[in-house]
Amino acid sequence: MTRGCSAPSIAATTARTTPRRTLGHSGYELYPASRDGEPLIGWLTSVTHHDLHHAQAGWNYGLWFTWWDRLMGTEHPEYLARFAAAKGVRRPASEAA
Ligand SMILES: [Zn+2]
Repeated sequence: MTRGCSAPSIAATTARTTPRRTLGHSGYELYPASRDGEPLIGWLTSVTHHDLHHAQAGWNYGLWFTWWDRLMGTEHPEYLARFAAAKGVRRPASEAA
């Protein structure tokens, strides 16, 4: 047993994080998008955000929030364009870089 953590605390954390981690690695962008193809809540990470983390080293370290990567300059430069593409929204070429 882990010292300092109660069984209910571990169970609650597992119940909360397991679905999120499973969906986050599913390869399917399930996160809702606005009409312009951006994530509906931009400061939460999406499947696309985390997929890019695994696809290319050095990008998208944030597991839960995007603001860390934006603050530190490690958000993948194609993140928003790839998110929009995953949601079926075509963006102008100037925004897709
Ligand atoms: Zn992962």
